[in-house]
Amino acid sequence: MGIQEIRKMPDKSDRLAHIVIVGGGAGGLELATRLGNRLGRRGKARITLVDRSRTHLWKPLLHEVAAGSMDQDLHEIDYMAQAHWHGFNYRIGEMTGLDRKRRQIAVGPHIDEDGEQVTAGFAISYGILVIAVGSQTNDFGTQGAAENAIFLETPDEAARFHRKLVNACIRANAQTEPLQPDQLHVAIIGGGATGTELAAELHRTTRQLIAFGLDHVDPERDIRISLIEAGPRILPALPERIATAASALLHELGVKIYTGAQVTKVMPGGVCLGNDLILPAELVVWAAGIRAPKFLKDLDGLESNQLNQLKVRLTLQTTRDDDIFAIGDCAECPWPGHARPVPPRAQAAHQQARHMSKQIVRRLRGVPLKDWHYKDRGSLVALGEYSAVGNLMGRLLGGSLFIEGIVARLMYNMLYKLHELALHGLAKVVLDTLARLITRRTEPQVKLH
Ligand SMILES: Cc1cc2nc3c(=O)[nH]c(=O)nc-3n(C[C@H](O)[C@H](O)[C@H](O)COP(=O)(O)OP(=O)(O)OC[C@H]3O[C@@H](n4cnc5c(N)ncnc54)[C@H](O)[C@@H]3O)c2cc1C
Repeated sequence: MGIQEIRKMPDKSDRLAHIVIVGGGAGGLELATRLGNRLGRRGKARITLVDRSRTHLWKPLLHEVAAGSMDQDLHEIDYMAQAHWHGFNYRIGEMTGLDRKRRQIAVGPHIDEDGEQVTAGFAISYGILVIAVGSQTNDFGTQGAAENAIFLETPDEAARFHRKLVNACIRANAQTEPLQPDQLHVAIIGGGATGTELAAELHRTTRQLIAFGLDHVDPERDIRISLIEAGPRILPALPERIATAASALLHELGVKIYTGAQVTKVMPGGVCLGNDLILPAELVVWAAGIRAPKFLKDLDGLESNQLNQLKVRLTLQTTRDDDIFAIGDCAECPWPGHARPVPPRAQAAHQQARHMSKQIVRRLRGVPLKDWHYKDRGSLVALGEYSAVGNLMGRLLGGSLFIEGIVARLMYNMLYKLHELALHGLAKVVLDTLARLITRRTEPQVKLH
């Protein structure tokens, strides 16, 4: 849709003081909240967040929603409430285009699940634009992947996987004939952090689910989980020691790991591996690779890479427009001293949001912008409820420190707490955590529907 064709929203304030953030994820929502608290509440600038969804769930929790160990309702944040409490505006809709000359973005209409239009498309003028639309799963055009695999991209997709998993267990429990070769077999494509964490979490939650009266299913005999990785080892982006520890733990849990295995086709009942091996699977999850949304490719002349990510400078400004910034997974940001750009991680989005909030204040005051430098704090991979492996990085540690077990698990939980703190402040985080701890004691530890 062209920007000229859509209804223009009234825009009263002066141009430079209107900051528009597109995408309320790990980076964008933290930024909108910080700016709203600092500038919006005091009437120093108008902050508008545009997101295609109505609620936010921190993306690293999606594998827990898929496995059924997390009730997303308890963790979702309503954009309308967050905006009201923190001094910014929220508009629902999907950004579809950009007109740099007019300094406007195009937002498509919002249609509900029954096909009814909720809001018409509109254009919104910006003084400063921050694009934070994240990334999507990259299936590299693999035959049948889009139709037959589930992508863990949104809470809805993660919940859909969980429903299918519960149905598969109930179906197997009810049938009198022997199980088919693909039944109760989950194939996870991609041995990165998401795939590895999902494999461990599924092992635990399927056993808990079956314990709720599905007596005809024997988890040790009937449930099979396979993790498929094209590279020579799982967790290719992390140090080898972490991969070795994670592989050993998955092996103990009975998860079958296929390395050096290229998936060439995903079919309704399984996946085809490069060497013509067919792996029967009732449920297939695609968790390999990311790319930024397609509309960023050639967005009114902004520079992008082959993954559609917008190229930014160290100031986080896009390379061809000083008033348009990009943060999080949708940005390719240089990482001086490293061959690769900053990795697409929640910790990078969190650090960028912090920096951007100060950067915008500098821009409004007309003082020079500062470069942002990624601080790699290490990586942690959660392996079920009580364990995790990873490394912590820092000057105080003298480089990298390998950690595992319950300490690593607590550090892993800290990542989410930092996100919550940035959004809610200490008092609400403490109260919410206590409330969840209490309800957890009175409810099943796994979602049964
Ligand atoms: C299952 C899973 C597990 C992960 N685990 C970890 C982990 O343990 N540690 C870690 O560091 N990272 C992890 N990651 C990566 C991490 O989630 C991302 O790096 C991080 O969420 C990126 O933040 P973001 O703000 O760029 O994008 P996102 O958090 O993805 O947010 C993007 C937002 O933009 C909105 N949006 C998208 N397109 C449009 C549009 N056109 N118009 C309007 N709104 C739009 C979306 O609705 C969303 O709200 C994980 C990712 C997944 C999928």
